[in-house]
Amino acid sequence: VNHYLTNIETKAHLNAFVEVYSQSALKQAEQVDAKISSGTAGKLAGMVIGIKDVLCYKDHIINASSKILEGFESQFTATAVQRLIDEDAIIIGRINCDEFGMGSSNENSVHGKVLNAIDESRVPGGSSGGSAVAVQANLCTVALGTDTGGSVRQPAAFTGVIGLKPTYSRVSRFGLIAYASSFDTIGVFSTNVKDNALVLETMAGADSFDSTASRKPVPKYSELLHFDKPAKIAYLKETVFSDALQPEIRKETLKTLEKLKNEGHQVEEVNFPLLDYVLPTYYILTTAEASSNLSRFDGVKYGYRTPNAHNLESMYKLTRSEGFGEEVKRRIMLGTFVLSASYYDAYFTKAQKVRRLIKDFTEDLLNKFDYIVLPTTPSTAFRFGEHSNDPVAMYLEDLFTVQASVSGVPAISIPNGKDEKGLPIGLQIMANSFKEAELYAFADHLT
Ligand code: GLN
Repeated sequence: VNHYLTNIETKAHLNAFVEVYSQSALKQAEQVDAKISSGTAGKLAGMVIGIKDVLCYKDHIINASSKILEGFESQFTATAVQRLIDEDAIIIGRINCDEFGMGSSNENSVHGKVLNAIDESRVPGGSSGGSAVAVQANLCTVALGTDTGGSVRQPAAFTGVIGLKPTYSRVSRFGLIAYASSFDTIGVFSTNVKDNALVLETMAGADSFDSTASRKPVPKYSELLHFDKPAKIAYLKETVFSDALQPEIRKETLKTLEKLKNEGHQVEEVNFPLLDYVLPTYYILTTAEASSNLSRFDGVKYGYRTPNAHNLESMYKLTRSEGFGEEVKRRIMLGTFVLSASYYDAYFTKAQKVRRLIKDFTEDLLNKFDYIVLPTTPSTAFRFGEHSNDPVAMYLEDLFTVQASVSGVPAISIPNGKDEKGLPIGLQIMANSFKEAELYAFADHLT
C-alpha cells in the first residue's frame, strides 16, 4: 500500500485518482497482514485495487465524474466491490472517468482530464481512462472499470494494459451507477491475465440484489489458463481491412494471426456485413436507456441542486442544465428524441431489431469458431482536443468495440505491439457468452 501511495503522489499530475483512501487502505493492509500471519487471509490478500467513480462504496463520495452528484455519498457498497473486500483486497481509491461513462477520451470529466502516461499529450481513452492509467502507471495492482461500449477495452488498448469486458450479466450491476442498463458491465484492468482472472472469478456470480445477474456457476478462471488444443479463429475482414484502420494496427494484427496459423490453429477470414450498422444501433439504444436512467437526477434526491431556482420547475430545469456536462446533455436529448412517440418505431424499435441481427450473427459465428479476433481500436491514442468538437468522430472510436456490447458476449483487449510513435496497439478477442475461461486462456497464450 505504501508503495502505491508513493506512486500515486509522484504521478498525481496524471489525474487518475480523484480520491485516495490512504488511511483506510493502510488500516485494511494491517488487518490483512494479521490475517496472513494467522493463516486466515482471503484469496485476494494484498491485492491493491482502485475503483472507477461509478461504483458505490459505502460512506464514500461518488460523483460519476459529474457535477450533478456533487457531494453525494454512497449508502451501500456495490456487490462487485464488496466481494473483493470480502477476499481481503485493499481498496486504495476512487478513479477518474468520463461523466456517467460517456466518452472515449476521458475529456468529459468534472475532475478534469486524465493523461496517458506513455505520452502525456495524448488521451488515455475512455470512459475508464483513469482506471487504465492507474494500472499503466503502477498506481494499483488492478483497477475496476465499466464497459458499456468499449470503456474497458479501448483505454486498455491506448495504455498498453489488459482489459476485460465480461459477458453481460456475469457480474452483478448492483451499486453501479447505470448508463445503459442492457449493455453495462463491470470489467477489469491488469498487467497480467492471471490477476484479471482472479478478480473476475471473485466478483462474478448470482446476486440477490440484481435479478439480471446470471446464476450460472462461476469457473475458477485463474486455474484454467491452459491453451493447449488447436483453436478455430475467425477474423473479421471489414475490420482488419477497414479504411478507417491505422496501417500499423493492421500490420500487427495480421502478424499475430500469421503466428497463430503457424502454430497450427485454424485461422479464417470471414465477412461481417453488419459492421456499418453496429455504431448507429449502439448509439440509439444506449442514448435511449441513458435518457431514462438519468431522469432520476433532478436535484431532489441526489447531489447538486441549483441555488438559482424560483419555483419547482425551474429547480429541475436549472439543476439539470447546470449539473450535467455537454456530452451527457447531448445524449439525454438524443435518447429522448428516439423514444418520443412519433419517432419510437423509426429509431428505437428498428435499432432493437438490428441489435438482434447483430447478436445472432455474432453468436452463430462463435458457434462455428472459438474466437473472433479484431483490432480493439481504429487508431492508437489520439491527442487531447483532436475529437472534442466532433462527437461523430469521437463515436467512431468505438467502431470495433461495440459489437461485443450489442451482442452481450465477453471480449478482452491485450497489448499487441506498438506503432511508429511507440504508442501501444490493442488486439481484441471475443468468445461466446460465458466463455471467459477460454478467453483468458487464449489471452494468456498471446501475452
Ligand atoms: N465510448 C462509448 C460511449 O461513449 C463507450 C462508453 C462505455 O463503454 N461506457 O458510449
